Amino acid sequence: MNIISLQNQSFEYETNRKGIRSIRLKLISQNSFQISCPHLTPDFLIKKFIKDNSLWIINHSQKITSKKAILDLKSLQILENIYEIQWIKTQRDSVIINEDEQKIYSNITTISETHAKKILEAKLRPFALKLIKKELQDLSKEFGFKYNNVTVRNQSSRYGSCSGRGNLNFNWQIIFFSYPQFRHILLHELTHLDIKNHSSKFWSQLTVYDSNCKNHNLWLKKEGTKYFLFS
Ligand SMILES: [Zn+2]
Repeated sequence: MNIISLQNQSFEYETNRKGIRSIRLKLISQNSFQISCPHLTPDFLIKKFIKDNSLWIINHSQKITSKKAILDLKSLQILENIYEIQWIKTQRDSVIINEDEQKIYSNITTISETHAKKILEAKLRPFALKLIKKELQDLSKEFGFKYNNVTVRNQSSRYGSCSGRGNLNFNWQIIFFSYPQFRHILLHELTHLDIKNHSSKFWSQLTVYDSNCKNHNLWLKKEGTKYFLFS
């Protein structure tokens, strides 16, 4: 991880040398970006490239407001609980989610945005799967659903899917929604176990399970992906 100051603003960046022919820059957050460049690019050329593009970096980084930098997060809302996050620099990467204390201890070896993201996501994904499975069990007890396997993925545009064999798949980041929206997404896929399409029959059945179905669906379409912190 490197740090560079552009017009009194401090940015961190990582350099990724690979088989390409020119230097490229990708913004990660308000104060971080990633550089991709050919294998033998000297550091002074990378720095020159960044300086030459400093105006562009500053202008465009300010527009990344909806995606908060992971390292800047002091807390994280997971369903109805607010978890306090502590970032600690240590010798070994480890993240501990303490559900009783509602605290996330993020011990990381490198204080950088990309590293923090990777380490935290590796822990939050299985945690999300656990929360989703628990809620699916509760809903099935209540309404009598019978499903097969449950998996989580990171799809930027989808919340979930239901296969013909009754396997359910969810975007793990749906745990960042409040509980009613989260529950709505699970019920949507559970309703697909019986009704594959989005016919009026599907929606009226879903409304039986979630009386606020219409509002939840509208909100998710409009606001939902803003809540996804990990792209
Ligand atoms: Zn659907």
